[in-house]
Amino acid sequence: MNVHVVIVGGGIVGCMTAMALVDRGHRVTIVERNQIASQTSGESSWAGGGIVFPLLPWMYSQPVNQLTRYGANSYQQICERLERETGLPTGLINSGFLLLPPYDQPAAIKWCESHQQHYEMVDKVDSQLAANNVHPSLWMPEVCQLRPPYLMQALRQWLVQNNVTLLEKTELSPLEEIKALTAWKTLDGLEIKADKFVVTSGAWSFQLLKSVADKLNIKPMRGQILLYQPSENLKQIVYKDGFYMIPRSDGQLLAGSTLEDVGFDTSVTEEVKAELAKKAEAIMPALKGLPIIKHWSGLRPGTPENLPTIAAHPQIENLYLNTGHFRYGLTMAPASAKLVSELIAAEPTFIDASPFALAID
Ligand SMILES: Cc1cc2nc3c(=O)[nH]c(=O)nc-3n(C[C@H](O)[C@H](O)[C@H](O)COP(=O)(O)OP(=O)(O)OC[C@H]3O[C@@H](n4cnc5c(N)ncnc54)[C@H](O)[C@@H]3O)c2cc1C
Repeated sequence: MNVHVVIVGGGIVGCMTAMALVDRGHRVTIVERNQIASQTSGESSWAGGGIVFPLLPWMYSQPVNQLTRYGANSYQQICERLERETGLPTGLINSGFLLLPPYDQPAAIKWCESHQQHYEMVDKVDSQLAANNVHPSLWMPEVCQLRPPYLMQALRQWLVQNNVTLLEKTELSPLEEIKALTAWKTLDGLEIKADKFVVTSGAWSFQLLKSVADKLNIKPMRGQILLYQPSENLKQIVYKDGFYMIPRSDGQLLAGSTLEDVGFDTSVTEEVKAELAKKAEAIMPALKGLPIIKHWSGLRPGTPENLPTIAAHPQIENLYLNTGHFRYGLTMAPASAKLVSELIAAEPTFIDASPFALAID
C-alpha cells in the first residue's frame, strides 16, 4: 500500500525517515519551519559532532544499543549511496575512538566482547595528547564519524532528486485533540493533507503534541561545541570524562560538548567557551594560545535514558512519532527510520518496537 506521508521536521531523523519511505514507494512531503540542512535556530542535526557511536554504550539499555549498533553498521552503505547518487560528500571516515581514563574498564571490555566491537588496550597513544593519565586507554579502531552539515546537504539533495516535496519555512501548529488525523494546519492557516503523519520535530516535539501526548518526555538539552584549526591534528576521536575531540579530515578539530538544561535558549556563552577550551588544552597542549575559529550550540531532543519514542499514536489514527533521540540521533536515525517505516506499513518489525512505545493516560 503506497500512501502519502507528511513528515513534520526536516532534521536527520525526518530526512532519514523520508528516505526509508521513498524506498518503499511512498509519496513523501517534509514540512520544516526553517530550511533543511541549514543552521537556523538550534536544530540539532546541523550542530552535532557526527560520531557514529554512543560514546559509552555500556551505560545504555539494550533497545538504545540496538538502534545505535544498526546505525553504526549501516552508515557506510548509506553514505556510499548518497555520495554516488548526489555527487555530494558526507564526510564519513573511519577515524577510530580512543577512550582515555577514567572509565569503567571491565564494563567497557565486556561490552566490546559481547558486541563484536574490535578493541585494543593501548600503551602508546597519539603524540599530540598530554602524556599524563593516558593509561589504560581503550582503542576502538572501527568507530566512524561523519560531518553532519555535509550529510544533511547530501540527504536534502537526494530527497529532491527522488521527488520528495519539501515545504520549507512552513511551521505546523500544535495539534489539537482528535481521533483521526487527515489534515494538519500550519501557523498561517494552510491545511496540509496526507494519509499518515510522522512527527520528527526533535526538541520541539512536546510543544507540538502536548495536548495529545501529555506524557511525552522530551525537552531541549543545549550542547555547545568549539572548532579549532591546529597545525597538527589528532589522528583519532578522543574521549575523556564526558568530553570529546573530533579531528576532521581537512585538519579542523571539534571540542565539546555541554549538556545544559536551559530551555530553548540557543545562545553560546563565554563561560562555557573557556571551560571547553580548558578541557581541550588539558588533553592536547598544542591548542594553548590557538584561536577558536567557531563556537555554536544545538538543542538536542533530551529524553530519560536516551530512549526515543518510535511508535504509532495509540489513540490517533494516522499519527506516528519518531523523536527524542537525545545524544545519538545521528547514530540512531537509520534504525529509527526503518522501524517507523515498518510500523507505518503494519509489518513485523526488525527489532522489538515495544520499548519505544508512546505512553498516554
Ligand atoms: C553539540 C551536539 C553534538 C552532538 N553530537 C552527536 C554525535 O556525535 N553523534 C550523534 O549520533 N548525535 C549527536 N548529537 C545528537 C543529534 O544531533 C540529535 O540527536 C539529532 O540531530 C536529532 O535529530 P532530529 O531530527 O530529531 O532533531 P532536529 O535536527 O532538531 O530536527 C527537528 C526539526 O524539526 C523542525 N520543527 C520543529 N517544530 C516544527 C514545526 N512545528 N513545524 C515544522 N518543523 C518543525 C525544526 O526546525 C528542526 O529542523 C549531537 C547534538 C548536539 C547538539
